[in-house]
Parts: sequence; C-alpha cells; structure tokens
Amino acid sequence: MRTFWEKEFTCPFCGHRFKKKMVFFDAVKIKSRDIDLKPIFEDVNPMLYEVVTCPNCYFSAFDRDFETIKIKGEETEKKLKKLLEEARKKIKIKDEETPTEAIKRYALSGIVYSVLNQRKKVAISYLKIAWIFREMGKPEDEKRYLERALREFENHFKYDSYEESDEPMILFYLGVLNQILGNRKEAARWYERLLGKHRDSLYAKVGRERWQDLRRS
Ligand SMILES: [Zn+2]
Repeated sequence: MRTFWEKEFTCPFCGHRFKKKMVFFDAVKIKSRDIDLKPIFEDVNPMLYEVVTCPNCYFSAFDRDFETIKIKGEETEKKLKKLLEEARKKIKIKDEETPTEAIKRYALSGIVYSVLNQRKKVAISYLKIAWIFREMGKPEDEKRYLERALREFENHFKYDSYEESDEPMILFYLGVLNQILGNRKEAARWYERLLGKHRDSLYAKVGRERWQDLRRS
C-alpha cells in the first residue's frame, strides 16, 4: 500500500504555487490513545504532515483549510503580513517531516488562526505541539503548550460563538487539560458540564471515564 502522495497548493496569501508531501488517509493507523485522546500511531505519524506552510511567505494552515481560507479586511492582512515577516526573520522552515519542523509549522498555523480569530484552531495547533513534545520526551515543553491550549479553549468557550456540535469536544478538552495539569476542581467542573448536557456524545463517554479516574485518584 502506498503511504504518500504529492499535492500542489496555491498560497491564499501570496499566490505562490508549491508541492507538498501528503499522507494517504488509509495509511494512518492508530494503535492506542492517551488520556487526552492523543493517538499513538503505527508507522507514519500524520501530525508531521498536517500543516501546510507556504515556502515563500510562511502562511500556514491545516491541509483541509489551506486553500479555502478567507483573509478578510485590510487590517487583518496587514497584521498577518507583519507577523509572517517577523517569523521569517526568526525561524527557517525546511521541507522536512521531522518533529522539530512540525512544531514550527504548528506554531505558524497558531499565529495565522489567531489573526483570523479562529481560536479553536489556535487551541488545536498548540495541543498538537504539546503532543509532539510528549512524543519527544520533553515534559516541560509539553506542559507549556498544554497550558496555552487550555487558555485558548477557555477563551473560545467564553467569548466565541461556535457550532453546538463542537461543544462536547471543547468541554472534554477543558476537563482533560485541567486534569493533566493538576487542576482537579476545575477538571471536575467541566466534566460535570459535559456529562450534564451531552451525555450521548462520544466525548461524554470518554469524559465519564476520566471523571471516574479523577474521583478515584
Ligand atoms: Zn505564501
């Protein structure tokens, strides 16, 4: 079975065309999951390929989003241009699928989504960085990014309007990230909310197990 294919992208910010290595959906196999549902992959790790970064301007987004993202308004465009310019001075992106390169790309997608006010995707970018640090065996860096992801999920829940169907996922991460970070009371509060409102969702099923672990520990 083939694992990779090549896709051509056009950057929605600068118009540059480039090719990127992609993973076939069928090639991804999940062996197990951690407490926060982080997948442990067999063979290929799709997290190393998920973010597309324009090699010319460093505009970055998840592969599903990259070409369809709308950058609205002059202010947004200016802000993004400035931040990407600063990023280009600070870091060099290589066309490699290593954990270190993937972290850089998720950091860039975090910047882009934050300028575009897509806080859930900022949170997910940081969560993925934490997960890669976990795979690298760097617990302090992992914790730093779990905290950042948690802050973004909190603000998303508090200030943004989101799809009702997203709420179980958001509540689950508010619970489980607090749990991992040792905030037991906060974790319990979010799990109660998740179980009270969305008892039939898949996230509630996992949330119920985590909540029981929390009460037992
Ligand atoms: Zn570009």
